[in-house]
Amino acid sequence: MKLSVYGKGGIGKSTTSCNISIALAKRGQKVLQIGCDPKHDSTFTLTGFLIPTIIDTLQAKDYHYEDVWAEDVIYEGFDGVHCVEAGGPPAGAGCGGYVVGETVKLLKELNAFFEYDVILFDVLGDVVCGGFAAPLNYSDYCLIVTDNGFDALFAANRIVASVREKARTHPLRLVGLVGNRTLKRDLIDKYVEACPMPVLEMLPLIEDIRLSRVQGQTVFEMAQKTPFREQKAHFHLICQHFMNIADQLLTEPEGVIPRELPDSTLFSLLSEFYFQSQSSPQGSDKVDKAGATPNFVVF
Ligand code: ADP
Ligand code: MG
Repeated sequence: MKLSVYGKGGIGKSTTSCNISIALAKRGQKVLQIGCDPKHDSTFTLTGFLIPTIIDTLQAKDYHYEDVWAEDVIYEGFDGVHCVEAGGPPAGAGCGGYVVGETVKLLKELNAFFEYDVILFDVLGDVVCGGFAAPLNYSDYCLIVTDNGFDALFAANRIVASVREKARTHPLRLVGLVGNRTLKRDLIDKYVEACPMPVLEMLPLIEDIRLSRVQGQTVFEMAQKTPFREQKAHFHLICQHFMNIADQLLTEPEGVIPRELPDSTLFSLLSEFYFQSQSSPQGSDKVDKAGATPNFVVF
């Protein structure tokens, strides 16, 4: 299975990816996670450090692929999850798609690309230009991470458009959304009502997930390492969210080929809903005010 995780910057793609990778490994899958964000911190909580990127390694070897060994670029993280960071083009120059293409090419040269049960691409998705849509060329599934706010759903809708486009020529499906850092889901529900797709899981804002990033560990590792029984049980409960996503993926769900909403429809759908809920006493307690604050003018 090849899975691409997309979503707005900072929404929790890498956090979700690392924990899904471990959850899949716990189910016996051989997993490779490829960080495709030029920020190259996708696999940080799996390995505990920033691993050298493919592009840095290729540059150091003057792009002589034959001089690059698997151990130069593939690092083992927690629970045997293998990790690669594609790296980025020089700032303001080059193309993320080229970087992803080079990464896949090198992994194929190393006979590594077909060695895994699951390859997870962790990609960014504020702007899905041709370059950043490149991992979709290799993917069976796209998964989108969002919160309950306008901006992340707007980015999600852009990603949906890319999936729809790629699905014309590739066997690609949208497996669904993961709601992150929110328990409120009224705007998410409104969106999926208009643009049908599964919601695989909802993760609240969890202080220990935030801490896990600073500590360079996933919650699975924290669960394993803590000597305190109560804390272990608490971490296990958090891990259940990711086990649930992994188990759904392993059923090889059908997914959907979605049809994005026109921008104007999305704006009016979410803003009308927001303002109606604001003015209705019954609906007002259901609105995630922080998440849903629109950053646009309604005429
Ligand atoms: P992205 O890869 O989308 O840019 P990250 O996964 O790096 O985002 O997450 C950004 C920050 O948000 C990190 O510090 C991470 O620990 C934190 N974070 C992600 N998900 C949660 C959550 N459910 N609860 C609390 N903090 C979270
Ligand atoms: Mg990231």
